[in-house]
Amino acid sequence: MTRDNHWSFPLFDGHMHYCQPFLDEAMASYSECGVIGGINLWGAASAQYKGMYFFNGDYAQFLKACRDKGLFYRFAQFYWPDWMGFGLDPSGFVSRLCDDLCRYAELGATGLKVWKDLGMFSRFANSTPAVVDDERLERVWQTVAKLGLWIAVHQADPGRSFASATTGLTKQQIFAARDRWLAAHKNIRFIICHSGNHDTPEEFDRLLSTFPHVQADLRPWQTTGDLQAIRALLEKHADRLYIGPDLAMSENKQPDRAWSIECVYRPWRRRLIETGLSPQTLEKIAWRNGVRDFFGPTPAA
Ligand SMILES: [Zn+2]
Repeated sequence: MTRDNHWSFPLFDGHMHYCQPFLDEAMASYSECGVIGGINLWGAASAQYKGMYFFNGDYAQFLKACRDKGLFYRFAQFYWPDWMGFGLDPSGFVSRLCDDLCRYAELGATGLKVWKDLGMFSRFANSTPAVVDDERLERVWQTVAKLGLWIAVHQADPGRSFASATTGLTKQQIFAARDRWLAAHKNIRFIICHSGNHDTPEEFDRLLSTFPHVQADLRPWQTTGDLQAIRALLEKHADRLYIGPDLAMSENKQPDRAWSIECVYRPWRRRLIETGLSPQTLEKIAWRNGVRDFFGPTPAA
């Protein structure tokens, strides 16, 4: 394989999707791409997104397979339930999820993924929207806190794709619910997915500045555009960011190594380098923050 001079540092992938089929091939692909670890979000995408990912299956089985292969030393596993279930059956959903979280934590899971179904698509029988700060979900957050799990949260979408919301809530209303929820749960460690889905670096900066208990994975735009502003933003929050490639490996297609490298990881490395970050910040965002947060202390920078 040809290696260019952008290939000179490891990566911790803060937002990835892989599942049990082709697990060995996925690991080989990551190793070849220089991925030393990551955050894997496994779950059931709801009906709106069926066909996008194929992650359905037995999560306990998946965790056991990860354990048997020693993957917990490299990958933090986050469980992603189908949040549409909360609108359909609020109390049953909460009970099942709390039980599942206890079981999965025991099997090695590290976190819970909260998805945009809450806010954008999920509605109750009386057609009111299901939102993330609904008090009936409080039991879930208490369980998360008790088990010491993280939460990765994706709410709403960037402006260009937001029009597909069916609950009638605006992006501002969804973000307001998210922010009330974050403010009320300072005992939980959060990761805000995709730079919070904010449309500008300024909005993203405001989110990070308001909530010191959140980390974030970066959308690619965060390393393109006005380089000077972006560099300043990344330097300011250097200890709280991971890269967020969002590479999905489906269960009916073998990982394509060339695609992983050429379309995803190599461009990410290039963008990080071209942003002109200090060497320390580059290392933190590329891999040190992830290793520190999920796998313990790292050697001094
Ligand atoms: Zn994703």
